[in-house]
Amino acid sequence: MRPIVAHIHLPALAHNLAQVRRLAPHAQVMSVVKANGYGHGLLNVAQGLQATDAFAVLNVSEAIALREAGYKQPILLLEGVFAAEQLQAVDRYRLDIVVHHAAQLDWLQQAQLSVPVRVFLKLDSGMHRLGFQPAEYPSKLAQLAQCANVSEIVQMTHFANADQADGVSIPMQTVTAVMAGKPYQRSLANSAAVVQQPQTHADWVRPGIMLYGATPINDRSAASLGLKAVMILQSALIGVQEIAAGESVGYGSLFTADKPMRVGIVACGYADGYPRHAPTGTPIAVHGKQTRTLGRVSMDMLAVDITEIDEAQIGSPVELWGALVPVDAVAQAAGTIGYELLCAVTARVAFKVYG
Ligand SMILES: *Cc1c(COP(=O)(O)O)cnc(C)c1O
Repeated sequence: MRPIVAHIHLPALAHNLAQVRRLAPHAQVMSVVKANGYGHGLLNVAQGLQATDAFAVLNVSEAIALREAGYKQPILLLEGVFAAEQLQAVDRYRLDIVVHHAAQLDWLQQAQLSVPVRVFLKLDSGMHRLGFQPAEYPSKLAQLAQCANVSEIVQMTHFANADQADGVSIPMQTVTAVMAGKPYQRSLANSAAVVQQPQTHADWVRPGIMLYGATPINDRSAASLGLKAVMILQSALIGVQEIAAGESVGYGSLFTADKPMRVGIVACGYADGYPRHAPTGTPIAVHGKQTRTLGRVSMDMLAVDITEIDEAQIGSPVELWGALVPVDAVAQAAGTIGYELLCAVTARVAFKVYG
């Protein structure tokens, strides 16, 4: 077995969920666990989030997995059904659905359901991804209100720029103009809005990334938001090289030493999900000490500077990201976001779960 392991700390999930509740004390929390729980394992994260008020997923299969594992909370299909037939599973497994386009509304109106479902009717408040336009939203709301297959309506939108300081003021004008005065609950806020747009909290917040202990906002660290990393991606040194000034490391010889150096070779590469675009200098920790990567990341290995870490030797523990090295710092170095790195850990990496 290669020494790379993704350690999943369930108490950190519970801690981050509690942090959501502190930030949005009047809202119910729908934990977003799509993309295999942002790469942490759907059932792992569900276990850590038992105290959530609801879950949100993309696929019916994920919702079924949660039901079969015994979760009784509401489960929302964030993009609704992709075909009319899926309404049978919605009925059987008691799922909530988003309705964001007219065909979904037709399917629902024509379905034979044993019990009516709760529907989140999605407004496009300016992101122009999914949802009804402000002008058509009221008539869709009226149709749902008349539909025998609908038990309850929640008015929903998703913000394009909740991570920007002033990023929701215009969409919130749309939301207020369209949704005000209706006898229905609202769900507007993702993690960024939970953190810094309290006027959006409404009835249901929908945090994802912050539950996993990564930041939803570029210039604020997860730690400063009171969040704890859930995944610690750890491996070990499987090689040590002493190189002289002028010698290079890795494919393309992208890094050349300007002095004698000790280089550690880590059992982790892009086939494990580590970003190939992480350049020399990307933060990493060996034996609990911060250092930097060297040269190009290869498929199964990457190189680190251990010149100043005397105790480093073959077998030494390496943290790729987690508690010492925020995933957001690795992401920033590689030109991406923590979300992408967490979701990208590949199937060949062993997962260990800690209650
Ligand atoms: C993914 C998603 C969220 C969660 O977003 P985060 O930025 O991870 O908090 C919330 N709402 C919808 C509709 C989503 O698709």
